[in-house]
Amino acid sequence: MDSNTDDRKGPLSMKAVVGVLSLMVIAGTCWQQSGRGRSPEPELPQLKKAPAPDNLGQEAYRHVAQLVSFGERWTGSQGWQEALEYIAIELQEYGLEPKRDRWIDREEEMTFENISALIPGESKERIVIGAHFDTKKTSGHPDPDHNYPFVGANDSGSGVGLLLALAETLANQKNHASIEVVFFDGEESVPYAWDDVRSLFGSRRYVGQYQAGLKAGREKSPIRAFILLDMVGAKDLDIDDDSNSDDQLHRIFAAAAIACGHEEYFFEHPQTVKDDHIPFIDAKIPAIDLIDIADNPQWHTEEDTLEHISAESLQIVGEVVLTALPAVEKDFLQGEGRLALPPRRR
Ligand SMILES: [Zn+2]
Repeated sequence: MDSNTDDRKGPLSMKAVVGVLSLMVIAGTCWQQSGRGRSPEPELPQLKKAPAPDNLGQEAYRHVAQLVSFGERWTGSQGWQEALEYIAIELQEYGLEPKRDRWIDREEEMTFENISALIPGESKERIVIGAHFDTKKTSGHPDPDHNYPFVGANDSGSGVGLLLALAETLANQKNHASIEVVFFDGEESVPYAWDDVRSLFGSRRYVGQYQAGLKAGREKSPIRAFILLDMVGAKDLDIDDDSNSDDQLHRIFAAAAIACGHEEYFFEHPQTVKDDHIPFIDAKIPAIDLIDIADNPQWHTEEDTLEHISAESLQIVGEVVLTALPAVEKDFLQGEGRLALPPRRR
């Protein structure tokens, strides 16, 4: 993703100025200071904290540790292949059927693969939760400063770890919406510096396939909302207020954070982030990016390691997602028919 940070400690500090000036050269994941907060919000809905396993964060952390043990996981690497296998085996263990979509990008001459699984609900209408499993490639670049060991514990081992833990939880409970978990390949930009065209390969592919299915009339499970988890594990957790994210989803997640007593970790800092939610937004699917990228000194450095993330932070974001989901169903599902799906394999 790419973003341009807001300085959080003071007005117009040197860091903020440098941040804005360096917008064009920031590598991977585009962010930018939005310069505006959201307009005054209508009252937040009152939500009830949803039950969440006490060990959700620990499970997520265990997955992150596994992913990190595979080393760098850029598209096509040995670690990338191991991560794919790990995700597939985990999904099967939860009784889900992993769907693997492998394709060749002719321009890049690269083979990508997304992996996903559907958790059927009472309704055939779908909420998608995603995370990217590739890591930024930090070798083979002309500038020596762009080459260093990188294991992406937070970017986005954390998103994948939490999404796996959530998939297991959601697969073991009754959900009104059908929920699909999607692990995207190729989020990171191929060039070291962020490139709008040569990034977001997995999410663009996923949305493209979905739209083609709609057009051909074979898509029976409309996507009503998309939730993206990216960099959600920092010990110093601070989920940004991304101005590209849908306002109503933002309100629901702000209310869910309050219901869980976690509001101090959410939405204090306005950002504009380009990430895997953008192809969904472009396709008019409401989407939110839960990301902690501003003021994150480990981002795209060799310091993005396990020691900077925590099970507690993963638990916090997991609880907020589980609490938000029923409200997302209520506000975004349109009451269409039910899925006639075969019973899940166990
Ligand atoms: Zn990244």
